[in-house]
Amino acid sequence: ISADGRIIDVLELEINEATLTGESEPIKKVTGVLSEEIGLADRTNMAYAGTNVVNGRGKMVVTATGSRTEIGQIARLVQETGETHTPLERELGKLSHALGVVVIVLSLILIAVGLLRSNLYTPLDIFQTAVAVAVAAIPEGLAISLTVILAVGMQFILKRRALVRKLLAAETLGSVSVICTDKTGTLTEGIMSVVRIVTATGELNRSELAQMHTGQDLQKQDALLALRIGALCNNVTLRKSTDEHGARYAGDTTEVALAEAAHSAGFEKEVLDHETARLFEVPFDSRRKFMATLHQVDHKTVVYIKGAFDILFERTTHFEKNGEQLKLTNVDKDWFVEQEKSLTSQGLRVLALCHKPLPHSQTSIQETDIIDLTLVGLIALSDPIRSDVLETIKRAQGAGIRVVMITGDGRDTASAIGRELGFSGDVLTGAEIQAMDDAALAQSIKHVNIFARVSPEDKIRLVEAYRASGEVVSMTGDGVNDGPALKAADIGVAMGSGTDIAKETADIVLLDDRFSTIVAAVEEGRAIYQNIQKVLIYLLSFSLSEVVLITASIAAGAPLSLLASQILWLNLAQDSLPAIALAFDKGDGENMLEPPRVKGSPILDASMRLMIFSLITITSVLLLILFFSFYHLTQDIDLTRTMTFTALGVSSLVAIFSVRSRRRPLWKSHLFDNKYLLASVLFGIVMLVSAVYLPPLQLLLRTQALGWMHWAIILGFSALNIILIEVVKKSLPLSSSASRVARLS
Ligand code: ATP
Repeated sequence: ISADGRIIDVLELEINEATLTGESEPIKKVTGVLSEEIGLADRTNMAYAGTNVVNGRGKMVVTATGSRTEIGQIARLVQETGETHTPLERELGKLSHALGVVVIVLSLILIAVGLLRSNLYTPLDIFQTAVAVAVAAIPEGLAISLTVILAVGMQFILKRRALVRKLLAAETLGSVSVICTDKTGTLTEGIMSVVRIVTATGELNRSELAQMHTGQDLQKQDALLALRIGALCNNVTLRKSTDEHGARYAGDTTEVALAEAAHSAGFEKEVLDHETARLFEVPFDSRRKFMATLHQVDHKTVVYIKGAFDILFERTTHFEKNGEQLKLTNVDKDWFVEQEKSLTSQGLRVLALCHKPLPHSQTSIQETDIIDLTLVGLIALSDPIRSDVLETIKRAQGAGIRVVMITGDGRDTASAIGRELGFSGDVLTGAEIQAMDDAALAQSIKHVNIFARVSPEDKIRLVEAYRASGEVVSMTGDGVNDGPALKAADIGVAMGSGTDIAKETADIVLLDDRFSTIVAAVEEGRAIYQNIQKVLIYLLSFSLSEVVLITASIAAGAPLSLLASQILWLNLAQDSLPAIALAFDKGDGENMLEPPRVKGSPILDASMRLMIFSLITITSVLLLILFFSFYHLTQDIDLTRTMTFTALGVSSLVAIFSVRSRRRPLWKSHLFDNKYLLASVLFGIVMLVSAVYLPPLQLLLRTQALGWMHWAIILGFSALNIILIEVVKKSLPLSSSASRVARLS
């Protein structure tokens, strides 16, 4: 269907609206007039763009096209929830801006110095120098190294069962400070089972349930009716064979549990379905929180309803007792509420099962028909917490990450599960969120870690509130309506079992739906960030050492100490591969003991800048000493440049092992655990030796063959360089959080 429209003529028209509402069952369309307040999923007299006719024919009057259609509005909302730049993108933008300024200022200074010393330098010299400085200041290998780090990082994350859909999200993961997680299936196993049935006639536990047999136990007919409603108002399908958990049915976990419970009491869902034709369905929706189906039972038309207790109890006027329908008095009401409270306070999900007779002629139901219901009973379901969740939450908290549980379940269930998981703080419900303005919500989220009865719209407000208070937020979701919240979050996390729309919008997809996978992805994200920092330290310090070297030699009135072609050779042919190989470094174990990076903190923090500054000072001072003393001794500028070029090349290849870990000294770091790094350093040595000895390269780079003595000097130089770097590394603080950990360990 290519436009929205009001249906004016139908013949058995059924439309699948899964793309819009997430409801996989086709909806039967009608031509009647419906109430204005009715929700989108219930507007059975409308057809919507982007949905598919699965049966019948119809005519409609077009009411909206293009971006005005319902699907168009969702698309617009997704678009308007603007793409946010990741912290890395912003930081790299700032860095390239700063480098650009350095290049321009230095080139201008050099041109000015050159013009002032026009007796020493020709315009060609000045031009070559300006080019050399520009080439030196720009770390040519940076862009490719960062891309490879992110791409390899994505692979590492994938190995831990999370699929990163957007390259830059891999790095943002490392700075996540709040993880908003769904409960069902993520913190819990998502394998529900019925543990209790409460009716006005009594209560049945799991083992009593298994001993029930249809028809034989008249005392328990209320419980049997509840089970029957649970099996009929249910969309699971029979599997060909039981799954690994022994489940006979496939579908929504809550519904599978109900069908399994009915089976253990002697009802076969497929037989019931066959005997009791379903005329119509109001599908379950996480906003509506109930499901209703219309049936023909013993020549009577009846609607069966199951859903969240608080939502249905408001619409209940009668209750079932021993097959009789009695008026619900205040005392009965209190009794049912108490029963529900006692079940939910044990962390159980409670569904109310209701029914209501309808006029025989009625062939469809609207949400407005779901009033004056008769409550048959309550069914309580348990969903065990995943075994690794407690430990993972502690791990996340140890890493300074706040874990927030967001659930569609009610306050008491959420609070009981939250207690089991060690969550502290208050519980806030979706209704309470809606009643708050932004300022009140910003205050509340500071001390609330559990959000109950939350709808997809509430999730967007939560994401915005956390982001406004400076947090980097990851939000999970699976439904169609979760799209905007996933997009608004810094990291949108979709469940592998979720809808395509959620997966399309998300930054990462959890292939196994598990909470621990989110934390594992964050851990890998931190390792990625650490590798990016290493590459920045490595490439920037050597690039800027070259800049200092050239500028100082020109300022001292000496010839150019390195040629632009030599700098390019070092930066591109030699140093790029080792820098790229850093992508394969595994993160330090200590990474998950530190708090997340503060949002907006520069990628080069004060301690890193100090480190880079020290490296530049050490390397360039040593190189200048080498350059001037060798030039003074030999007066051979090509040989002196070759020595400077080779000394810089060797020392940068050695220094990468020292720069790799800021926590551990060179001799304690795992030198051989990154085989790609070893191979790339070997390749770098080959490139350097080729540059010095291969005649075509000698011509290109104006280098000369070196003798054993020269190499001895260069090796001595590199050894001194690395010793000084290690001394500086030991005396410099790590970033404030990292140093705390280093002290602890
Ligand atoms: P979480 O948000 O913790 O992952 P969820 O997404 O499963 O949980 P919803 O599906 O929104 O939460 O469910 C909200 C409430 O709706 C539940 O507490 C339950 O009372 C009711 N409910 C859930 N599934 C069904 C269903 N298939 N039919 C009827 N009611 C349901």
